[in-house]
Amino acid sequence: MQSAQLQSKYYTSWHPYSWKSFATVQQPYYENISLLEHCILNLKNSINLVTEEEINSIKFYLHEAAKGNVFILQAGDCAETFLDCNNENVIQRVSHLQRLQELLQNNIKKPVIVIGRIAGQYAKPRSEFFETINDITLPCYRGDIINGFNFNSESRKADPLRLIRAFECSKLTYNWIRDYLNLNIGINRHSFYCSHEALHLDYESALTRLSLKSGKWLNYGTHFLWLGERTKNLNGAHVEYLRGISNPIGIKIGPHTSPNELISLLKVLNPENQMGRITLITRFGVGMTQEILPSLLDKIKRLHIAVTWSCDPMHGNGQKTKHGIKTRYFQDIWQELKETIEIHNNYGSSLSGAHFEISPFDVTECVGGECLISETQLKNKYLSYCDPRLNNEQSKEIILNLGNFLNN
Ligand code: PEP
Ligand code: MN
Repeated sequence: MQSAQLQSKYYTSWHPYSWKSFATVQQPYYENISLLEHCILNLKNSINLVTEEEINSIKFYLHEAAKGNVFILQAGDCAETFLDCNNENVIQRVSHLQRLQELLQNNIKKPVIVIGRIAGQYAKPRSEFFETINDITLPCYRGDIINGFNFNSESRKADPLRLIRAFECSKLTYNWIRDYLNLNIGINRHSFYCSHEALHLDYESALTRLSLKSGKWLNYGTHFLWLGERTKNLNGAHVEYLRGISNPIGIKIGPHTSPNELISLLKVLNPENQMGRITLITRFGVGMTQEILPSLLDKIKRLHIAVTWSCDPMHGNGQKTKHGIKTRYFQDIWQELKETIEIHNNYGSSLSGAHFEISPFDVTECVGGECLISETQLKNKYLSYCDPRLNNEQSKEIILNLGNFLNN
């Protein structure tokens, strides 16, 4: 398609399904289309999980973060699972986030707003379509909303009924979080929000509704959505979907993002240059920040583009051990975060948020930290269905380091 045609499409007819005429990537293949349609209809008739007031208030805080008045802590599992959708597990994850929030808040002496990767983080983008184990090749696991983690052909088939289960689990999770926050007097319940990656577009558009109050299209399935590194193609379906909803959105920025590409993306996703609408989450990998971030900061500053800057020091630092286990080194994660803060400071900008993959438990998925997890220990308690998370101790350590460094 000619780019002029694409341009005119962008500025004309958005609706929750306009993405269907754009190139889609990372979407599941379903065999049973009538069952899929039935499930989508079921989702369309479902209740809202969040309110417009909550969406407006998180947007306000993201704007405050850009001004330096609050700090954003976005964290949680890489992939939530249906198995962990129970009251006890959800409260463990929420209270862990709150302990980190308090730790950071007391250290940096400004309010910290939590955005959990929770209550809907069920879809995963994958670099490969297939995975081979012991000479058997099957489709990759793409998150519980799509297929099963178990390595057999039945489990790895995309099942439309999982859309409903993901919604029901998200609904339960919201209920447990709301009950818990209400019970804990003294903790500001307006400082906890939920997020997930905007990946499964049929799911997201089924939960996208027009607010009769404001006349805005909102995704009522979560407060905050982010655009992943693998789906941020300017002419792609994910960008088309996200440009039409009014929730605040994050954009993951990898090492191959050019300043011009980023500016075009921001013009499409935030044409009115609203503060709080866009959070840029950089994830370059250790040692790469100095090469890439300064020119992005410079361009955004010169063009007066409104963004909130965050850093995800996890996703650029994935490695495989010699035994083939996916891990990340605590030292790399901390180093990227430190480099990012220094570069912001050197260029008259400031980092307003950080994004981590964490677990409240003593899992052994990332190497290092003061708890000295070694490569050989990784197999002891590796519970993640997808990327390796910082465990309880490692997450406290990084938050403590972060607070101390921000204060310097
Ligand atoms: C993630 O956040 O789990 C993820 C896949 O991130 P990215 O798109 O930055 O690789
Ligand atoms: Mn991840």
